Amino acid sequence: MNYGLNLWGDSNFVIDGGKVCLNTDYKPAIIDIVKDIRSDGYRGPLLLRFPHLIKKQIVQIYSNFERAKREFDYKGKFNAVYPLKVNQYPGFVKNIVHIGKAYNYGLEAGSKAELLLAMAYNNDNAPITVNGFKDNELINLGFIAAEMGHNITLTIEGLNELKTIIRTSKERFSPKPNIGLRIRLHSTGSGIWAKSGGINSKFGLTSTELIEAVNLLKKEGLIDYFTMIHFHIGSQINEIHPLKKALTEAGNIYAELRKMGATNLRAINLGGGLAVEYNQFGEENVRNYTLKEYANDVVYLLKTIANQKSETEPDIFIESGRFVSAPHAVLVAPVLELFSQEYTEEKLALKDSNPPVISELYDLYTNIKAANAIEYLHDAISHLEGVLTLFDLGYVDLIDRSNGEILAHLIMKKAVALFGNKQSNAELLKLQEEVQERYLVNFSMFQSLPDFWGLEQNFPIMPLDRLDEKATLSASIWDITCDSDGEIGFDAKKNPLFLHDVDLEKEQYFLGFFLVGAYQEVLGMSHNLFVHPTEATILVGENGGYEVKDILESQNILDILDDMDYDVNLIKDTLNERISKSELVDEKAKKQILGELYLFLSDNGYLKTIQ
Ligand SMILES: *Cc1c(COP(=O)(O)O)cnc(C)c1O
Repeated sequence: MNYGLNLWGDSNFVIDGGKVCLNTDYKPAIIDIVKDIRSDGYRGPLLLRFPHLIKKQIVQIYSNFERAKREFDYKGKFNAVYPLKVNQYPGFVKNIVHIGKAYNYGLEAGSKAELLLAMAYNNDNAPITVNGFKDNELINLGFIAAEMGHNITLTIEGLNELKTIIRTSKERFSPKPNIGLRIRLHSTGSGIWAKSGGINSKFGLTSTELIEAVNLLKKEGLIDYFTMIHFHIGSQINEIHPLKKALTEAGNIYAELRKMGATNLRAINLGGGLAVEYNQFGEENVRNYTLKEYANDVVYLLKTIANQKSETEPDIFIESGRFVSAPHAVLVAPVLELFSQEYTEEKLALKDSNPPVISELYDLYTNIKAANAIEYLHDAISHLEGVLTLFDLGYVDLIDRSNGEILAHLIMKKAVALFGNKQSNAELLKLQEEVQERYLVNFSMFQSLPDFWGLEQNFPIMPLDRLDEKATLSASIWDITCDSDGEIGFDAKKNPLFLHDVDLEKEQYFLGFFLVGAYQEVLGMSHNLFVHPTEATILVGENGGYEVKDILESQNILDILDDMDYDVNLIKDTLNERISKSELVDEKAKKQILGELYLFLSDNGYLKTIQ
């Protein structure tokens, strides 16, 4: 079983000896890396970062555009910036800046905080672009960045911002930021994130406003600072067609604005949108283009339009975030419990004389075989309903009910083992949906997969080992929040995830959640006060294996309360006071209790079982 690795894996991982391994020279198994880290006492979910996968994405982007430029003899330059909003965690940003240096890879900021981060971290001379709504202060900050020597472009979203820029430029020193205009396209993206483009979009200048902006810039003597037009048709663009339409529109706007006297306008910024293949279970890819095709289309279309309109071929900027960051992070979480594992034959407490429905269930259980498995399973499910109804009416007691539940689950298990996971049979899949095993997993979906909760974005999930054994149980995954939304249900059509029947008393079982490096970390929320998981950076060395670096332990309980502006000293004092006032225990016990409480407060809140 390869869990769709061929669809979403992009050759980043291979299965070797039943384990998921990094596809590097020495192929270390992820589970070995995890056990290595856990041997130092770390428990709960772990976020692993792989810088070699960041590098791979950056190299792919630059090499594909450089190749396309050569192929079409394109005269403009190619530039890329990383949009900070996609992942601002230092464990990621420091890597991207370090790896990007060789390419002059820059940063994109969408807020004051992000701009300050970019001003501190960006490589010298690498471009900074600023998008999003701006006030006086943010614009001032942009000027300060230029005065510090940054190569910065402020992209304005509306005419008011332009007026503020004009005013500010009169008040400040001489190096000034470049100005970009975000254009409002009539073409839109597609898919669930498509709201950023189109005539009704939240962002950008209409054609009337563009004309006004150019006239204003000319009048104020700032036209030479106008160097870029920008658009962003939305994230996760699965089809290439909307991008082509947008490029054609933008290319023509570029040429027209130059003809109006914007002679320093030399760049088109395509924003982000380059899609990631998350598809784990479909027959084929959801993204209908490759990066090669994307780069070819951009270069070819912009060249064609520029040539048709006898204008210079524009420099190309892209702001891909998801594509660059998604593959680098893998969340690993231990399975804590299989819910049906409490239903064992030893727990049956059959009486000398049982109600007929229980006796029938027992017969089904002892006589089930491959030939009658489906039929018996159907019967078991309806018998269980019968038992529960009889219990409500007072005809059977709690022992009968318990026997009924145990027998029904034992039958389900036997049936599933008998018919395996032949997904071709729709009937079987429907049954598997009914008898799914619930895996309790030590993580918070709200913290670590918010896009599944909010947008039903699926992320590839697979066990880290036992991949040479058939996984027979249709699985739904439950997180440890006490919110019933914290579940990834088995869905025969969309999400037929099968996992192994494991005995957690005897062995551990870890699940990997892949492609979680984009958006999930910072969108993650502290529902139930679960926090960002412990993270570690894994360097794959030339000399063989791997090196675990920068382990950052999950915030402790006092930290998270402090983040919420609780007075943590007051909390400690109050707990202390309550214990010392208690008359229920003696002084020695009080000391011990206090010590225990302080340990809890200085630890993180994830579950700490053996798993
Ligand atoms: C969000 C955003 C991006 C990044 O988009 P991805 O789909 O993650 O590549 C780029 N540019 C702008 C202006 C954005 O708002």
